[in-house]
Amino acid sequence: MKAQCVYCGQPATEQDHLTGRPAGNRPYFDVDLWVLACGACNKVAFQSWRALGFDRVGDTAVARLRRLGVFAARMSDRELPDALQPSCWAALARCFTEIADDIEGRQ
Ligand SMILES: [Zn+2]
Repeated sequence: MKAQCVYCGQPATEQDHLTGRPAGNRPYFDVDLWVLACGACNKVAFQSWRALGFDRVGDTAVARLRRLGVFAARMSDRELPDALQPSCWAALARCFTEIADDIEGRQ
């Protein structure tokens, strides 16, 4: 079975990194946190961030959480069965833990 885009079910051609990266082509915030997507759906994520102002990164913890919120909202609209891999859930768990540690470290 060919890998499918998690958003639309079409053949996947790209990795959609759920928290993206800071400006300036720097490394991804969470390099292991991605889902398979077709090119069109991967583009929608960035367009959504831009429309909401989430493409700009001030506080990295806030940016990562807001972008994960966009992902969760997109997944809530789907009718397809959940196609997320166990490694994605593990990467999401690490991401949430890092964000919590970041916030806690400021107090
Ligand atoms: Zn798609």
